[in-house]
Amino acid sequence: MPTDLDISKVFAPGHETVLRVAHKPSGLLGFIAVHSTALGPAAGGLRMRPYATEDEAVEDVLRLSRGMTYKNAAAGLPLGGGKAVIIGDPARIKTPELLAAFGRAIDTLDGQYWTAEDMGMTPADMAVLARETRYVAGLADGEFASGDPSPITARGIFRSILTTARHRFGSSDLQGRRVAVQGLGHVGAHLCRMLHEAGAKLILADIDEGRVAEAVATFDAEAADPVGILSVKADILAPCAIGAVLNEASIAALDVAAVCGGANNQLATEADGARLHRRGILYAPDYVANAGGIINVATEILGISDREGFVEEKLAALDDTLDRILTRAAKRDCSPNDVAAEIVDELLAPRAA
Ligand code: NAD
Repeated sequence: MPTDLDISKVFAPGHETVLRVAHKPSGLLGFIAVHSTALGPAAGGLRMRPYATEDEAVEDVLRLSRGMTYKNAAAGLPLGGGKAVIIGDPARIKTPELLAAFGRAIDTLDGQYWTAEDMGMTPADMAVLARETRYVAGLADGEFASGDPSPITARGIFRSILTTARHRFGSSDLQGRRVAVQGLGHVGAHLCRMLHEAGAKLILADIDEGRVAEAVATFDAEAADPVGILSVKADILAPCAIGAVLNEASIAALDVAAVCGGANNQLATEADGARLHRRGILYAPDYVANAGGIINVATEILGISDREGFVEEKLAALDDTLDRILTRAAKRDCSPNDVAAEIVDELLAPRAA
């Protein structure tokens, strides 16, 4: 172990390994959480935020690393779940020295954990980490560099919308269907293009008015305000901006038959999955619908040369997974979110035994 690093184990039931990483010379304080390596090396991004306390950072890294186990497993990837966090404001304390120290800490896990970009990190930061450890994805260049994941994320969401529409309306034909999209960023913009080409009538919202104006003109769409989009009358709502948009109040106001979008953590609480179900709104679990992004990053971690072939195969498998989830949920008259978790638990169980 590098001597200038102070690495200690944190006791966290349910997780395989959690490390507290400190490096006094650079002011580094962070955590690496490996939730599960049952399906393969744990993979999940590195987040840097000014957490108020160490406990808050630990809570976040544990929650996020568990979430990565579910996301990677649902995507059919030979990857487990992990995540890392660094405490501090990236604009103030992020230095090459601090990142290098964290890279050395990641390296001590010998590939049990692979990192990538998350909030507060850039591809340039990944390059700094990569000088200290090979267990880094999200690099701007290199033999297997996977680049911007959002076009593939959007393809996965689009396919998930087709599957959701088939289950909810009996047909995946989107011609004339009204689809409300919240968020016109990297993912939302690609998704809108695909929906428009499939003949959907779009209702769009973003806090960036310029983006809305441009997209409305390009896709002959209607505009809604960023909050109002959650109560417009449409067939499908695709949240592609921020998390926790589906909560007790917003679910009561929804006027759609299905929700399928790319934003992470759309449900404010687990109970909101059941709330949607009680209202008869079919919900495609977000970590299934948006798994295209991690599928893309996986090509880098796994060193896949035939990237397009791998992505195609995994996106097709994702269609099957969502189909199974929605079929089982319909049979059991329960929330697809509960079924998704159950299916992942089944995948993990034989290996955990
Ligand atoms: P982005 O930052 O490029 O775009 C987000 C867009 O949402 C921006 O245009 C922003 O102005 C808008 N926005 C922010 N708050 C809003 C609000 N309250 N109401 C309406 N619009 C709002 O991000 P992205 O890469 O497009 O990601 C979108 C979502 O998808 C995020 O939740 C992200 O975590 C998730 N996601 C992205 C990927 C990927 O490949 N980029 C993969 C998986 C999940």
